[in-house]
Amino acid sequence: MIVDTHTHLFGEEFRDDLDAVVERARSAGVERLLMPNIDCSTVDDMLAACARFPGVCHPMLGLHPTSVTASYRDDLRLLRERLVQPHPYIAVGEVGLDLYWDATFRREQMAAFDEQIGWALEHDLPLVIHSRKAFSELMTCLKPYASTSLRGVFHSFTGDDGDVEQLLSFGRFLVGVNGVVTFKKSVLPAVLRSSVPLSRVVVETDSPYLAPVPHRGTRNESAYVCDVLRKVADIYDVSLEEAARTTTENAFRLFNIA
Ligand SMILES: [Zn+2]
Repeated sequence: MIVDTHTHLFGEEFRDDLDAVVERARSAGVERLLMPNIDCSTVDDMLAACARFPGVCHPMLGLHPTSVTASYRDDLRLLRERLVQPHPYIAVGEVGLDLYWDATFRREQMAAFDEQIGWALEHDLPLVIHSRKAFSELMTCLKPYASTSLRGVFHSFTGDDGDVEQLLSFGRFLVGVNGVVTFKKSVLPAVLRSSVPLSRVVVETDSPYLAPVPHRGTRNESAYVCDVLRKVADIYDVSLEEAARTTTENAFRLFNIA
């Protein structure tokens, strides 16, 4: 059994063939599909997709950093209203900082991130973090929580956006490895081998983005997480079965699903 820990299958890219996409994933052994939210406009589509595949698809709740604007307080209030028991969300995500596309709302991104860290702690949920070109800001936001029970995953870990040792010093956090690890020029295989034990790794697709080789450049889908896993097995010099077992156990433990 394999877990795709990060897949946006509720997006419009999958509107016409979601059933077939999920079927292909399950046929490939990918039996759990974890869905990170983007913003207020995507929650209902995400919940509808999850309702279609109970026990397979699991939703998260959060405001993505590229969706943080001047009105982020209103967006957070609307999302927070959904986080009352009983709720179906297995994590607060995806949240974090993205200064690659646009740094206009840097302060707002940091404030929104901080508030959502509070949700994760308050509801005892893992945090699914997106961080791009924002390493020092990420550390500024996380350091006050270093000795708390905060746990989560640094999603779309590339190995070249900041200090790996500092990231891993957050001992309850895992790294999410996706198709980037299969790209020819990626430094990630070397970084994983030298600095990240397999016990800290989960696999993901980030569908519809970042399709792994040999699908690079096409729409990504959860079945392709097997190509990521094959590369991970290769890097750690373990069998595909062992790579699947370990990363699945890591995901089950972090997200509290089984
Ligand atoms: Zn994502």
